[in-house]
Amino acid sequence: MKVAKFGGSSLADAPQIMKVCDIVLSDPARNIVVVSAPGKRFSNDIKVTDLLINVVNDKLNGGSGEEALNKVISRFSDIAEKLKVPQVVSEIEEKISRIANAEYSTDNELLDSVKAMGEDSSAKIVAAYINSIGKKAIYCDPSECGLFLEHDKMGKAIILPETYDNLSKLADDPDTIKVFPGFYGYSKEGRIITFSRGGSDITGSILAAAVNADIYENWTDVDSVFAVNPNLVKNPFPIKEITYNEMRELSYAGFTVLHEEALYPVFIRNIPINIKNTNNPQAQGTMIVRNRTHFESLITGIAGKKGFCTVTINKYLMNRQVGFLASLLRIFEEEGVSIEHLPSGIDTVTVIVTKKQFTEEKEAKIKARINDELNVDSMNIERDLAIVMIVGEAMANSVGIMARAATALSNAGINLRIVDQGASEISMMFGVSESYCEYAERVLYKELFRY
Ligand code: ASP
Repeated sequence: MKVAKFGGSSLADAPQIMKVCDIVLSDPARNIVVVSAPGKRFSNDIKVTDLLINVVNDKLNGGSGEEALNKVISRFSDIAEKLKVPQVVSEIEEKISRIANAEYSTDNELLDSVKAMGEDSSAKIVAAYINSIGKKAIYCDPSECGLFLEHDKMGKAIILPETYDNLSKLADDPDTIKVFPGFYGYSKEGRIITFSRGGSDITGSILAAAVNADIYENWTDVDSVFAVNPNLVKNPFPIKEITYNEMRELSYAGFTVLHEEALYPVFIRNIPINIKNTNNPQAQGTMIVRNRTHFESLITGIAGKKGFCTVTINKYLMNRQVGFLASLLRIFEEEGVSIEHLPSGIDTVTVIVTKKQFTEEKEAKIKARINDELNVDSMNIERDLAIVMIVGEAMANSVGIMARAATALSNAGINLRIVDQGASEISMMFGVSESYCEYAERVLYKELFRY
């Protein structure tokens, strides 16, 4: 059994949806399908999810949201007309309007409920189209199927454990194709809650884990995952096989092909993920597995991500003061800022956090508390750090990668603010100033992929 998830570009318009349905029908094992909302049809198009967010923003600013709502509805009715399933339009229109105009106790509830309507409507259209071409398909309502999420985690849903048992029933009746909307589920109180952006990947992974699928197919618009961002390097090395751990590190540091939270549900059940291209289904794609058998290169991938801040603290004899680090970390904990990395020296420690969490306001508060509570010698805060990572399981057994990488970066005039090699030896991390992020990725790619 395969669970096949299709992303927004695969569902952007009627011809794309026809391709999706051809792919689904070409393999009888593909009987659970997870869909995103229609994505961009051309480069400056707007994704349906963003249009839905516009509806909410307009309402919150005192408008009616009508204009953006009409754009959403006309996007779906155009798709449905072209696929010759116009019967679904009134149902879609009625539900989106009802959800958008209902009363909610918080703005976040309104936002999540409206945001989910892109996936919900996509699933109805795909199910209707598959039925219209002669194969039985049903739209699955996440609330009826029991995709339950923690209460109050709007926009960053966390799954409740019973969900897996509930969704395992989707494996029954394999002759019927189940079309499941991605990106959202329900709290036990009946509220719609979405995952973070790109979260249909998570829904697919949860479903694959629940039915114990043989494989989780994630259909997108590239032939494979590439060793480096293809916008930075011409014809980068395609990755045929990659481990969950490598992918986790690369997703963390900027690879966007798969949502970073989508790995865990399939990882613990050892279900491989196959990234495939809807526009070129013959291409093998990339397999994400527990243990690799193919090692075509020493390094698997290079990624870079901006948006980090560093808080560097110096205190003479820090190493002898019992509990110093614990007190420092407690300040971040109490201020609700999670720590990404913690490189340290004898008398110095750097706390790396994301800019998103470490707002100017938080910075002022945390700075004051460190000064008041910890009696440090000096503190330096920088708000422009990028992280560049080199990832590869094969690195553990080879000597000299760090030397080559650091030499290449230094020859290119890039100052290394932080260097860190994880104990697992599958990754190395370099902290550089944000303005050097892409340059550093290119330099490392050139150095390490020239075998
Ligand atoms: N439609 C949602 C988004 O644009 C979720 C997804 O496509 O996975 O983020």
